[in-house]
Amino acid sequence: MIIDCHGHYTTTPPGVGAWRDAQVAALAGGPAPADAPFPVTDDEIRESIEGGQLRVQRERGIDLTLFSPRASWMGHHVGDATTSLDWTTRQNDLIKRVCDLYPQNFVPVAQLPQSPGTSIDASVRELRRTVEELGFVAVNVNPDPTGGYWTGPDLGDRYWWPLWEAMQELDVPGMLHVSQAENPFFQTTGSYYLSADTTFFVQALSTGFMKDQENLRLVIPHGGGAIPFHWGRFQGMSVREGWDFDGATERIFFDTCVYHQPGIDLLLSVVPTERVLFGSEMLGAVRGDNPSTGSGWDDTGRYLEAAQITAETRAQIYAANARTVYPRLEAYLG
Ligand SMILES: [Zn+2]
Repeated sequence: MIIDCHGHYTTTPPGVGAWRDAQVAALAGGPAPADAPFPVTDDEIRESIEGGQLRVQRERGIDLTLFSPRASWMGHHVGDATTSLDWTTRQNDLIKRVCDLYPQNFVPVAQLPQSPGTSIDASVRELRRTVEELGFVAVNVNPDPTGGYWTGPDLGDRYWWPLWEAMQELDVPGMLHVSQAENPFFQTTGSYYLSADTTFFVQALSTGFMKDQENLRLVIPHGGGAIPFHWGRFQGMSVREGWDFDGATERIFFDTCVYHQPGIDLLLSVVPTERVLFGSEMLGAVRGDNPSTGSGWDDTGRYLEAAQITAETRAQIYAANARTVYPRLEAYLG
């Protein structure tokens, strides 16, 4: 069994992007888009999935993908709270449609209608709607909904508590995943994503906030940014600063979205095995083949197969860890 914990619907039919474009244009005075679901047919969804994520799943032997809306499109900084809510509910409803069409292959993960400077309550409501009414198993939480300006509350702030509490009550983990960089200083999928991954781990470490949330589980994507490579730095800083390294980070998990063998080998040698989850983020920002190996950059199963680990460890990373971190998956596994 292979469970990919990190997949986005990056191949949406044209009606989705057109609706969003109209919504953004309306903020500048254009006509508002229809107050209705996205104008997308089931056949369009099938076409977008079967030639994309489903084909790659089959080629690579991936059984199940945790599937969420395209991360760079979450765009929480766009417009106001209503903009974000209208966009988010439609995106989540679309994910639900994909997962209902392919219940053997995709399990739904939500985005939240986070809007900078507004209460977290709308996000808690959307979390409850998606989990309780639609059967979602997890959520993507954007710790910097400003789009790279970093002006919101850090993860140690009580601002986040209602969300953490709801996630624990519902028993769903969250992937800490930023969206498009609005700040032109950053390149979205390179510098912004990876610096965000690193930043939020350090916030968890320096604030120790997870000790107040004793069943909260968070996943840091993209192999944890710079974290595994600099594990010793963070341990050393913890000794100096009096931070509880193990206690503050023991329920933080890392995916395997690292696109070369030495990176995966490092991740596996540094992070405790039970905290590594198989992920590929296909079809994501790094599509195409590595010319020196001839295989896909994001074909992360190849790196796991080549890694010097036991079959038991590999099986843990492929599926067992995900089943522990995402308990609501069991309803889909039969
Ligand atoms: Zn992602």
